[in-house]
Amino acid sequence: GAERTKNVLILMSDTGGGHRASAEAIRDAFRMEFGDEYRIFVKDVWKEYTGWPLNDMERSYKFMVKHVQLWKVAFHSTSPRWIHRVYLAAIAAYYAKEVEAGLMEYKPDIIISVHPLMQHIPLWVLKWQGLQKKVVFVTVITDLNTCHRTWFHPGVNRCYCPSQEVAKRALVDGLDESQTRVFGLPIRPSFARAVLSKDQLREELEMDPDLPAVLLMGGGEGMGPVKETARALAETLFDKEAGKPIGQLIIICGRNKTLAATLESDEWNVPVKVRGFETQMEKWMGACDCIITKAGPGTIAEALIRGLPIILNDYIPGQEKGNVPYVVDNGAGVFTRSPKETARIVAEWFSTKTDELKMMSENALRLAQPEAVFDIVKDIHELALQRGPLTNIPYMLTSSFSSFID
Ligand code: UDP
Repeated sequence: GAERTKNVLILMSDTGGGHRASAEAIRDAFRMEFGDEYRIFVKDVWKEYTGWPLNDMERSYKFMVKHVQLWKVAFHSTSPRWIHRVYLAAIAAYYAKEVEAGLMEYKPDIIISVHPLMQHIPLWVLKWQGLQKKVVFVTVITDLNTCHRTWFHPGVNRCYCPSQEVAKRALVDGLDESQTRVFGLPIRPSFARAVLSKDQLREELEMDPDLPAVLLMGGGEGMGPVKETARALAETLFDKEAGKPIGQLIIICGRNKTLAATLESDEWNVPVKVRGFETQMEKWMGACDCIITKAGPGTIAEALIRGLPIILNDYIPGQEKGNVPYVVDNGAGVFTRSPKETARIVAEWFSTKTDELKMMSENALRLAQPEAVFDIVKDIHELALQRGPLTNIPYMLTSSFSSFID
């Protein structure tokens, strides 16, 4: 008989651009693979249902990563399990009812967390509701290497790790090997499935058809030394003797409006495009020849799929640190914090060292895992099937959840 549509709740938070991108990637892959079999809700449950500090995570995160030392302390001081458990238990006791209401509204058959702080409280709620055996709960980790320990919860049905390094950490933190899978970081299907010609894209995006192009960005928030690097590139990409440019520059500032405004008012002697938050990153990446970015996992994984050699110029301490050796040791890019050095490398790639650029591009393609998001949703589908024919899941309204976790 026809089964009813299953509800999938994806828990994310708009801290950076990466979590939302991963959540949307999973949603789109579900639609492509299974059509109407699943109804997908992507929710920042904390923002919608809870009070401070959970509904303010986006702002606190932005503040903290801008003040790097503060983030370093926050990341490492919350690492010991007993500290974050106590902290989360306190928050859960306070906001449990609201979180519960959030889960009740969507009546999920499957819950997918793509955020390091979204395992404990939903799992507590499920346990309290007696729904652990009925609802599939999985975590999709979106850090490539040095991820925070709050990602790991032994109560999940699956923990999808983007790399072997992360899977090793999961085992150390008490997950069983049968709970982990390594498929890669989920990237929007538009990256994996698009057939894009560079020439067409350049025409569509109104870029110079011939000059090699470098894409400069800094994650969803436009972080890192973007301005300094842009100005240094304007110097090195202009051949003074010939009196003409040897390359063109695309700067994507994300949500950093100040940055975009500053760069737009600059005068440039090479072709430059300054953009804000772009929704079709696969096109800009497909039109360029290399990329300069902070070590965000999303941007790195996308660039690898497009075969773009990567210059990493910054990283968020903690979760992004390990992304640097991941790129550099695999020969897909280099790391330097110096805008001048970055500009020099790009100019060489576009003139005397085109071989190096080509080799790094091939290495990038070798590391790419465009199918990861499809492997993940197929595995979740299998998990759901193993639960047998689904009846309506009996979510109940309860009033005493907070006494339960005391
Ligand atoms: N991104 C985007 N439009 C922009 C800037 C960034 O869609 O204008 C996307 C980018 O393609 C990537 C994500 O935002 O998928 C950034 O994630 P990443 O993990 O690199 O860094 P974060 O912003 O989360 O720190």
